[in-house]
Amino acid sequence: SAEAADKGNEDSIKVVARFRPLNDSEERAGSKFIVTFPHNKDDQLVNIGGKVYQFDNILKPNVTQEKVYNTAARDIVKDVLNGYNGTIFAYGQTSSGKTHTMEGVIGDPNLQGIIPRIIQDIFNHIYNMEENLEFHIKVSYFEIYMDKIRDLLDVSKVNLAVHEDKNRVPFVKGATERFVSSPEEVLEVIEMGKSNRHVAVTNMNEHSSRSHSVFLIQVKQENIESQKKLLGKLYLVDLAGSEKVSKTGAEGAVLDEAKNINKSLSALGNVISALADNTKTHVPYRDSKLTRILQESLGGNARTTIVICCSPASFNESETKSTLDFGKRAK
Ligand code: ADP
Ligand code: MG
Repeated sequence: SAEAADKGNEDSIKVVARFRPLNDSEERAGSKFIVTFPHNKDDQLVNIGGKVYQFDNILKPNVTQEKVYNTAARDIVKDVLNGYNGTIFAYGQTSSGKTHTMEGVIGDPNLQGIIPRIIQDIFNHIYNMEENLEFHIKVSYFEIYMDKIRDLLDVSKVNLAVHEDKNRVPFVKGATERFVSSPEEVLEVIEMGKSNRHVAVTNMNEHSSRSHSVFLIQVKQENIESQKKLLGKLYLVDLAGSEKVSKTGAEGAVLDEAKNINKSLSALGNVISALADNTKTHVPYRDSKLTRILQESLGGNARTTIVICCSPASFNESETKSTLDFGKRAK
């Protein structure tokens, strides 16, 4: 927003790498835990098979969901309440912990993920604010599958278009916007969206790993006395699995899906690397629906965190390295 124009864009993209624990099936298959965390003062280093990566933060397998929230989301929530836009992504191969990070176990105070914590935090801030501010919060929830946008709050809307508003800011036209007045109400909306996501898909796990899910929170506030208005938009994105096609030996429709995912994830990678490179003046937002939608919420004055989700297993070594390489492109 114009209100936010004074804040510089230095380090507007934060990259956090999260490693989940080795899981039972990996252990049974004889996979080894191949990452180590060389000590430095800010826990920014990880060593995988002799290769060392550095990020803004590294989250080790045993960190709590609360710590993940504090590291990846807390500051962005404050900024959104001050009228900035923001995006938090989870990137990684299937079963690397993206959904656990973004959503977690909804309703479980310890295991709930970033999204429910953000919602709670936004309402806590509002409940504690001065009385001359009036807030309107609305949420949308959709998924992008094969470059088509499907509304998860209204199953009749299966192919929404991206349009530009009068300020040339892209948005998803016709996406359901639900006004919400309590954290409980938002969680109900999420549950509804998730059950809609199950409709018309035979295998939900497979489906969710091949589509991006996007939860949008818009916080509008007005100062009753001065009539000063602020709008902050926060996009919370659980990306499709980043694994390479060859590994699955896919063909036909599955191959088309995989190509489509690769295309949209590389469009995202190109956008974040252009944003990170101060010498680049062109940012290729228009190359995918996802990056178009996020245009005003990625880079510039917006706040962005990418949570790079990784498996620590030897079996996934090359996939984990390419996930970490994606994160490096934002730096
Ligand atoms: P993705 O969404 O990337 O496909 P999930 O978030 O569904 O992966 O994680 C796969 C499995 O691993 C789930 O059963 C999840 O609960 C578990 N898991 C993921 N990350 C962690 C973690 N940090 N600690 C414990 N369990 C985790
Ligand atoms: Mg998932």
